[in-house]
Amino acid sequence: MHSFLLAAALLAISTVAKPFNTRASATPRCIPGQSCFPTVNEINAFNASLDGQMFSQRPIEAYCYLGDPLFNLAKCSNYTTNFLNLQYLTENSQTYEVPTWETCGIGNSCQLTSGSLPVAGQCKQGNVPNYAVEAQTQDDVVKFMNFASKYNLRIAIKNTGHDYQGRSAGRNTVMLWLHKMKEMNFAKSYIPQGCDASSSSFDSVKLGAGAQWGDVYEFAHQFGYMVVGGDANSVGASGGWGLGGGHSFLTPNYGLGVDNMMEATVVLPTGDVKIANECQNTDLFWAIRGGGGPSFGVVTEMVFKAHKEVPMGVVNAFSNGLSFTQSNQQALIEALAEIAPALGNAGFGGSLELFGPVGLVIQGIVPNKTADEVKALFAPMFNKLLAINKQDFEAFVNLFQFSTQPTWYDYGKTAFSGNRGSGFGLVFASRIIPAATFNNPSQLADKMIEGLQQGALFFSILAVGGNNTGARAGNDPTKTSVTPAWDTAVWHVIYFSITTGNQPGSSIPAAAYKTAHDSAEILRQYLPDSGAYLNESDLFEDDPPTAFWGQANYQRLLTIKRQVDPQNLLNIWHGVGWVENGGTSFETSAPDGGPYSCYPTIS
Ligand SMILES: Cc1cc2nc3c(=O)[nH]c(=O)nc-3n(C[C@H](O)[C@H](O)[C@H](O)COP(=O)(O)OP(=O)(O)OC[C@H]3O[C@@H](n4cnc5c(N)ncnc54)[C@H](O)[C@@H]3O)c2cc1C
Repeated sequence: MHSFLLAAALLAISTVAKPFNTRASATPRCIPGQSCFPTVNEINAFNASLDGQMFSQRPIEAYCYLGDPLFNLAKCSNYTTNFLNLQYLTENSQTYEVPTWETCGIGNSCQLTSGSLPVAGQCKQGNVPNYAVEAQTQDDVVKFMNFASKYNLRIAIKNTGHDYQGRSAGRNTVMLWLHKMKEMNFAKSYIPQGCDASSSSFDSVKLGAGAQWGDVYEFAHQFGYMVVGGDANSVGASGGWGLGGGHSFLTPNYGLGVDNMMEATVVLPTGDVKIANECQNTDLFWAIRGGGGPSFGVVTEMVFKAHKEVPMGVVNAFSNGLSFTQSNQQALIEALAEIAPALGNAGFGGSLELFGPVGLVIQGIVPNKTADEVKALFAPMFNKLLAINKQDFEAFVNLFQFSTQPTWYDYGKTAFSGNRGSGFGLVFASRIIPAATFNNPSQLADKMIEGLQQGALFFSILAVGGNNTGARAGNDPTKTSVTPAWDTAVWHVIYFSITTGNQPGSSIPAAAYKTAHDSAEILRQYLPDSGAYLNESDLFEDDPPTAFWGQANYQRLLTIKRQVDPQNLLNIWHGVGWVENGGTSFETSAPDGGPYSCYPTIS
C-alpha cells in the first residue's frame, strides 16, 4: 500500500485538513449523458456567447478506423506522419504529447497499434475530453468558468498537452483549450501593476496563456533579450511549466521559472479575475509560483523577467555505439558528480542521458564562457576517467564537442527542436539531488546505478545548480511555493520507462509505472528529506504534498486553495487538495467511476 493512502486516511480524521466541500464529494460533477449535464439548447446558447468556439471532439485516431463516422484516410495519414512531431501534437485540441493519456483502460481507447491502415474495430473516446472550448480572450475563460460552476461540470484545462500525468486530459470532461491565446509583449523597466512608481522595475515579456517557448525565445531575441524557459520549444510558457516550478538550462544562472515569473492574471474558479504580483493578491501570487496548474485558477497572462542576451559556451556529446560496462557507467556518474557543484557554480545547465550500455546524449551551456573555458570545466572529469581506464574512456572523451553560440535563441532553435520525448508512452519518476549529496560522489553513483537496476530503461541527469545557490541563483526562495529541495539542488534525476500495449482492449499498462517508481524508490530512501518536481514526477509518488512542496508550504497552499476554489472545481492528480479529497477515490460514485478511473494502479 502506498503511504499516501495512509496519509489520506490520517488527514481525513484530522481537524486541520477536512474535505473542501463534502457536498461536492458526495455529489460528483455532471458528465455527458447525465440529466444534470447542460441540454443541447443550453450548450448552443453558451456556444453562441463564445462566437462558436465550443465543439465536441473525438480522438484524432478516429480518422483511421474504417467503421468510424469520422473515417478519412487522408487525415489519418496526416496524423500518422506527424504523431512524433511535438508542435503538431500541440496544435490539435484532442492530441497529447504522451498518447497514453488519450486512453482509458480496457476497451476504451482509440490508439493505433498496427502499421497497416485503416484499422478495423471501434475507436472509443477514452480519456479525451468530450467537448472543447477554444478560448481566444480572457472573457472566454471567465465565461467557461462560470458555465462550469453553474452546471457543476467535470472540467480539464489544456494548454499544450505536455503534461506527463494526463492532467490536461480527462474522461468525460469539458475542456478549456488555451493554445490560441498567443499574444506577446516586451517592456523595458516594467513595474508590476499596483506597485508604486518607486518599486524596482525589470525588463519583461508578457505572454498569453498559449505562448510556447520556441516562439518566446525568438520574440525576446528581436529585442536582444532571453527568457528562462524549457528545453523543448513546444512546451507552454505560461501554463503548467511555470506554475509547477519550471527548470531551464539557464536555471543555474537565473533561477527557476517561478523565480522569473513576476506577475500573472488569473481567472479564479469563481469567475473573478485577479492580478497577482508582489503588490496585490500576494498569497495567490505565492501559490501560483510553484503550487501547480491549474489548482488555483486559469492563468491568462504571465509576465516573466527578460535578461539581456549573452553568448553561450556549448557542450555536446552523442553516441549510440558505446559499450559501457556497469562499472564504466558508475565511474562516469561518479566523475561527473565530483565536478557537478563546480560546474553548477560556473553556470552550467544541461542534461546527460544514458541509455543502457550503448547510448549517451549530453547537452549543455555555460552563459558567458568560451568553448575553451567550458572544456576546462570538464577537464577534471576527463582526466579522472582516462586515469581509471584509458582504453574504455578515450573514445568517450573524444565524443565531447565544445563550441559557442552567439545567443540563447541561436542555441535553442536547434537544440530544443525535434522530438524531445513525446508521441509515445514515456513514464517518469524523479528525485532532486541536494548539494550535500555530492560530498560522497561514489555513494551517489552507487545509488543511481542501483536505481537503474530496478528496471527503468534509462535515466537523465539535469544539471540545475551548484553548491552555492542550488537551483535558485540567488533569488529569494520564500517568495515561491516549490519544494525547498530546489534551494540546494545540483541535479534533478529522472528514471524513465516506456509503456507498450496501448492497444484497444488493454488497460493503461501499469508495469512501466512500477519500474520507474521502483527505480526512483532507491533515491527516495537514500534522500528522504529531499523532494521531487511535480511536473516530471512519479505517477505513484508516495507522499505528493511532502515531495512536491514540503509540509510547511503545503499547509499554506491548502489554505489558499480553499479560499480561491471552495467548490474544488479544479481537482487534478497529485494537485493541492487531491489527497484531502480522497486521491484516487475522488468521486468514484460517478457513473463512470470518477475522473481517475482511467489511471493505472500498481501494487
Ligand atoms: C517534450 C517535453 C519537454 C519538457 N521540458 C521541460 C523543461 O525543460 N523544464 C521543465 O521544467 N519541464 C519540462 N517539461 C515538463 C513540463 O513542464 C510539463 O509537462 C508542464 O506541465 C507543461 O505545461 P503545459 O501548459 O505546456 O502543458 P499542459 O499539459 O497543457 O498543462 C499542464 C498542466 O498545467 C495546467 N495548465 C495549463 N495551462 C494552464 C493555465 N494557463 N492556467 C492554469 N493551469 C494551466 C493543466 O491543466 C495541466 O494540469 C517537458 C515536457 C515535455 C513533454
